[in-house]
Amino acid sequence: MSTRADAPRGPDAIPLSDEFAPYKWAATVDEVAARYGLAVAEVLKFDQNTPPFPGVAQIPLAESFATVDQYPSGLYRELREAAAGYVNDRSGTHVGWEQVVIGAGADDLIMLCARTYLGPGRTAAMFPQTYSFYRTVTLLSGADPVAETEGASLIWRCNPENPTGEVTPACELVELARRHPSAAVIVDEAYIEFGGESVVPWLDQCPNLIVLRTMSKAFGYAGLRVGYAVAAPDTAAVLEARRAPAPISSPVARIAAAALLDPRYDLDSEVEERERVRAALVAGGFDAPPVAGNFVWIRSDADLGGALEAKGIIVRSFPNGIRVTLRRPSENNVFLTALGIASGAAPGREATIIRTSTETALRITLGLDGSGRSHIRTGIGFLDHLLTLFAFHSGFDLACVAGGDLDVDEHHTVEDVLAALGDALQQALGTREGVTRYGSAVVPMDEARAMAAVDLVRRAHAEISLAFTGDRVGGLAVSLLPHALERFTMQAGCTVHVESAGADDHHIAEATFKALGQALRHAVAPGDGGIRSTKGIA
Ligand code: PMP
Repeated sequence: MSTRADAPRGPDAIPLSDEFAPYKWAATVDEVAARYGLAVAEVLKFDQNTPPFPGVAQIPLAESFATVDQYPSGLYRELREAAAGYVNDRSGTHVGWEQVVIGAGADDLIMLCARTYLGPGRTAAMFPQTYSFYRTVTLLSGADPVAETEGASLIWRCNPENPTGEVTPACELVELARRHPSAAVIVDEAYIEFGGESVVPWLDQCPNLIVLRTMSKAFGYAGLRVGYAVAAPDTAAVLEARRAPAPISSPVARIAAAALLDPRYDLDSEVEERERVRAALVAGGFDAPPVAGNFVWIRSDADLGGALEAKGIIVRSFPNGIRVTLRRPSENNVFLTALGIASGAAPGREATIIRTSTETALRITLGLDGSGRSHIRTGIGFLDHLLTLFAFHSGFDLACVAGGDLDVDEHHTVEDVLAALGDALQQALGTREGVTRYGSAVVPMDEARAMAAVDLVRRAHAEISLAFTGDRVGGLAVSLLPHALERFTMQAGCTVHVESAGADDHHIAEATFKALGQALRHAVAPGDGGIRSTKGIA
């Protein structure tokens, strides 16, 4: 038997500087929940600078997965053309597709730049407070991180800056590149969609400038891992020659290309929300300077991050402050409240419900003025599917995470999720002034057909009749749905009639949630009537 001491050791890795530290993520939801005895649904992540809802794939997904036995085209021409077009539209430039280099996220391109320009005996200049990965890759390459740009082989710059959100004028970065013609000046524009000015128009004049972009921030594709670099043709060719043969998958390349050709992000509302939160912080006495990212930066020597984490709010902590990613307005209000700031009503009709019982824990965020996006994880696949349809057809934005006693059965989870959805609707509707009030829809689904009619008057009444032929669809006992929809109605405090019948239970359930979504879409839409009643009161 081998003891630990004589157990075989792995191969000898290249020794790294004592200063080397691998990239470190903030604590996970599970870690924070366990550390502070919170339910997972009570913990909110404000640390990753990703948008509150995922980007939506704008291509038929199934089609892009049909040829997964084949390698992607290593040329990525479609994606590189789309990226060049996107950049040119915004910068008024004529960047060619050969000037674009694809990577598995900006991080992959940061490593590519380090591989290309750094090594033992070289130095890389960077600000003491900037994106931490620059230091990690510099040390990984065997080069030395320095503060002084003179003599550096590579200069890391991030604009807008992470974590402070500060903007450097593009002309200053161009001047820096001109002053150091033999250094690679990397300008990481991960947050450029949220503010600041790109240096892309100067690439022609400065062949040592390399711009990095990511699809993880404004586009909401962090999980897909895709980014691109843009540089002068010869510089791009040097990088292109040193990258992996096919760093990103073909479905990802197609999704990213479609998004770059037709960006559907909602930057105005994200920037507006950033300014609302920042103004609330400043009014609350916090030192929150202007920022040009999808986050706010609060300068403080106190351990704000630790105090927030104990309340289930995960932020990025630094010795001199915290960086807080913006989420949906109602979620941001949870953060503001945790700092003791009265946040007032969030703009847009939206509500977040966080509830924990011995049987289930859940968090739902519902935005009535959304665009039908959803992010749903209840642990019951078919329920996730139905709620996704509901969000799509209502045009609501819906995020839902639930963990329940599925080892018993799915009863509590289904009921509590639908009840909380009703609560969210009730809260999001607010005074119900200025809504259309009535909405109805008839939705066929092959042989099945559902009718839904809604009255948003504050009288809770449910007539739910779903003619299922069997017991289950996938992991969901469909017999639970009528009761759960009744709970939804009672919590929402309105009148809901739903009738659905057909030969296939899958279709009956789908038609039900589509019809309910469509009916609600009409009822919540702005109308001049609001809740008026011939009785004078409603
Ligand atoms: N650059 C900056 C400045 C970042 O903040 C991040 C992510 N936090 C990245 C690059 C990495 O982006 P990606 O997800 O594309 O690897």
